[in-house]
Amino acid sequence: MTEAPAQLGDLIGPVIRDLARRSNHDVTRWLHQVDRLRGCTDPIRLTGESATLNGTTGEVLNAYTTHDEPHGQLLVRCGNRRASRCPACAETYRQDTFHLIRAGLLGGDKGVPEIVRTHPRVLATLTAPSFGPVHRGPDKDGTANVCHARRTGPSCFTRHHLGDPTIGQPLDADSYDYTAHILWNAHAAALWHRFTVYLRQHLAAATGLTRKEFARVSRLSFAKVAEYQARGVVHFHAVIRLDGRDGDTLTTPPTWATLDLLTTTIHSAAQAVRLPAPQTGHPLTWGTIDVRPIQTAGPGTLSEAAVAGYIAKYATKAAETSGTLDRRVTHRDLTRLHTHGVTDHAARLIRTAWDLGNPETHPDLAPLRLRQWAHMLGFRGHFSTKSRAYSTTLTALRRVRVEYREAQELQRLPYDPTSTLVLAHWKYAGQGFTPGESALAATVNGEGRA
Ligand SMILES: [Zn+2]
Ligand SMILES: [Zn+2]
Repeated sequence: MTEAPAQLGDLIGPVIRDLARRSNHDVTRWLHQVDRLRGCTDPIRLTGESATLNGTTGEVLNAYTTHDEPHGQLLVRCGNRRASRCPACAETYRQDTFHLIRAGLLGGDKGVPEIVRTHPRVLATLTAPSFGPVHRGPDKDGTANVCHARRTGPSCFTRHHLGDPTIGQPLDADSYDYTAHILWNAHAAALWHRFTVYLRQHLAAATGLTRKEFARVSRLSFAKVAEYQARGVVHFHAVIRLDGRDGDTLTTPPTWATLDLLTTTIHSAAQAVRLPAPQTGHPLTWGTIDVRPIQTAGPGTLSEAAVAGYIAKYATKAAETSGTLDRRVTHRDLTRLHTHGVTDHAARLIRTAWDLGNPETHPDLAPLRLRQWAHMLGFRGHFSTKSRAYSTTLTALRRVRVEYREAQELQRLPYDPTSTLVLAHWKYAGQGFTPGESALAATVNGEGRA
């Protein structure tokens, strides 16, 4: 193809002319900003100023304003978690999540003591029940089985291999329970919360302790991610750890706190969860529950690093893996979802969420804000959450990185940063590159062909 470089040039030419309108300094400065974005493709544009003052005398030591920047704006990383939006920022998020989960399993880092390696720890996967048969993909070990061999009712004798687009689509869309599916997603976070309450109660009951005594000597901690199955329903992967405690100090758990007890009570607590469902009349429950121990070492065991990698991978995905949109749905979208590449099944789920979100016909469902979350097929919870005791936080990891960068910059300053005061005022001025800028930025980042 000989056309591509010419098109790139057509785009870049005006951008450079625009940037160099005032001086060549702007081109250099813009390139410097792009370099600091470290590959972010959807940067946030800020306008404003900051001033560094002497803390005692009030003397202005350093002043910065975006007025002197190209276009009068400063570009900062978007920080988006989703790989479909910004691969570079999603990668940073994935790495942070990996370190956070790993720290909670290995200890010895980020404020978590090493003894956690000896505590009962599992990877639990909690899944929704069936809302109607869907085409089945291969097993965990990669074996493609016959989909649904049935004499009566909907059947399918195909062996679906990985990547087959029919996987997750209903065998019979007309009998599939779309309403129950949307309502389940909309209550997924509430189902999870109820599960954690029951798990503490079941553990306390199994050991003969009151809930208060149980909370005094032990602590459960969780780190979980939400993932969409191909059928468009959310499920949760969670690292669950049972620690001992002495006040705020994490200690070796009491002798009753075994891996077996943790595994049994996770099953019983999840099976006991029942939330009243509006509309359908059937209570909302969990479906399949899978609990696997996390081991320190040994062949064939589920290792700490494997679990951290697994959880981190899912943290950068959203609903788009189940064939839906990766942005909010508008009224105009509803009739032409297929033109956006939305599958028939996802389109029907989106329309069901939209209809159930009508405040005139379903005032009781208004708190679920189903129209706002139609593109997420009803789920409005957080993708990755963890309890306070699990390990460090993403905010803490980000602060370490910002402080490191600031320390590097401060080393070049001619004054003592500990005795100064920074006043800043920023305003959001927009997001993203212009088409020409993004072509130029891609070239700077070594992705362009020109
Ligand atoms: Zn970004
Ligand atoms: Zn099938």
